[in-house]
Amino acid sequence: MFKKMILKRTGSLFSRILLSHIIIIGITLFTISLLFFNLVEKYFFSLREWELVEDANKAIALVTEDYEDRNYAELEKTASVLSASMNSNLRIIDPRIDSSYSSTIIPIPSDEQSEALTGLGYYEINNVLMGNTLFKKQYGPNMQRLMVAMPIVSSNEDFSESGEASTIGMLTLSTPIAAIETTISRVTRLIIYSSLFAVTVALALALFLSKTISKPLKAMALSAQELSKGNAYNKVDVSTAGEIGDLTIAFNKVIEETENTVNEQKNLQALQDKLIANVSHEFRVPLTSIQGYTESMLEGFVKEEEKEKCLHTILNNALHLNHLVEDLLKLSSMEKGYTNLNFKPIYPKAILNRAIYSIKSKSDGKNISITVFLNEEIPYIFADENRLYQILINLLDNAIAYTQEGGHIECSIRTEDDLLVFAISDNGIGINRKDLPYIWDQFYMADSSRNRANKRHRGLGLSIVKELVKLHGGEINVESKIGEGSTFYIKLPTYKKSS
Ligand code: ADP
Repeated sequence: MFKKMILKRTGSLFSRILLSHIIIIGITLFTISLLFFNLVEKYFFSLREWELVEDANKAIALVTEDYEDRNYAELEKTASVLSASMNSNLRIIDPRIDSSYSSTIIPIPSDEQSEALTGLGYYEINNVLMGNTLFKKQYGPNMQRLMVAMPIVSSNEDFSESGEASTIGMLTLSTPIAAIETTISRVTRLIIYSSLFAVTVALALALFLSKTISKPLKAMALSAQELSKGNAYNKVDVSTAGEIGDLTIAFNKVIEETENTVNEQKNLQALQDKLIANVSHEFRVPLTSIQGYTESMLEGFVKEEEKEKCLHTILNNALHLNHLVEDLLKLSSMEKGYTNLNFKPIYPKAILNRAIYSIKSKSDGKNISITVFLNEEIPYIFADENRLYQILINLLDNAIAYTQEGGHIECSIRTEDDLLVFAISDNGIGINRKDLPYIWDQFYMADSSRNRANKRHRGLGLSIVKELVKLHGGEINVESKIGEGSTFYIKLPTYKKSS
């Protein structure tokens, strides 16, 4: 469990940023420290070596004469003064003597004693006696020392037959190097402190980056997860500029579009479900009637004189079904934009008169009067003649259907800005306020009108009218009061000759 948590943490962007920062800083500091140590050490040691050689040269210059003359008492004195003033250990190895004059002036030690007495190996001593200078670091239990061993050279003829400089002895000078060590340990401390500081800064930087990079990314992931589960999701705050900010904006846009698409699909599904339920219902009534009458006839339950009436009912129901199918196909092709309209300039008064004339027998049958008001000059409109005729017929048909016998219908045409307004008004049963928003829906029939309308009314008329008006670039509205009547307004753009 704990392991899993750690794995999860190390997999997160924050941990990766932090880890990469620390690794980069670690590697950089390590490399710099190594180089720095090396340089500092080299610098201090070569400085010290140089000083030591200077001191040794001075010492050799001061002791050479007494050394040549074997004036050991003087030699010892000079050596101890030099030792003290140079803060170093001075030793003279004299190959001419067999036993030590003092701890400062000694003969060449044996192979076994050499290291203990002089700090140099037998071969190292021989090497110096051959005229070479030697540096050596000595590691003691308490402190380190740096030693230089140099030959004492004489040009005196007594010592050199050829008159050339020759090695007659050697001098070693060793000095503690604690000061160098202190300096290096100070530098080490400095590097450790700066490393700690750098790691703290890296941590702060990683935290800051996590806020600006990983926080919006995390929020996006969470939001997307919620959306995929179908839960409510949050938009991600655009708190950073640059790529992450752009990504957040794009993400919000995508998520919003996805949500819209999902909602559209949901709405579409709901509409489809509703339509299927309505269609089934509308089909079932006439189908049941056809089935009932046909069965009765086949089983011989219908008397001879009633058979014709029965067959008429079956025919009417079949016709009703046919009309339903026709209307539905019409609506579907209009909604899909498959309906081509044949636009041309039309004089509105003529088309209204034609519609009233064709519906006259129906209104006369219910003793409903129809009057037309045209009190201004009427402009042309640009419309499909047959579809406009159908719009007016549907509205007039409804006005007659939902108005009681002896009622009255008024039709008028007027202009309103750039629009032409047809108004068809009746003093019929009116529409309930709660029904008003739904009368345009397919198969919607207000309860109050359900029983009054005849079979021709299938709850599709206003849906078709609305689609047709829309195809004309116009709009349709209704004002109605229950018990007082309804007025439908169709607004269509007028025809401008220049256009
Ligand atoms: P229908 O075929 O039932 O007439 P419509 O789509 O034409 O279907 O109308 C939908 C509903 O709107 C009708 O069932 C009716 O309730 C109401 N309606 C339409 N026109 C009128 C009107 N002039 N007066 C009262 N109610 C109306």
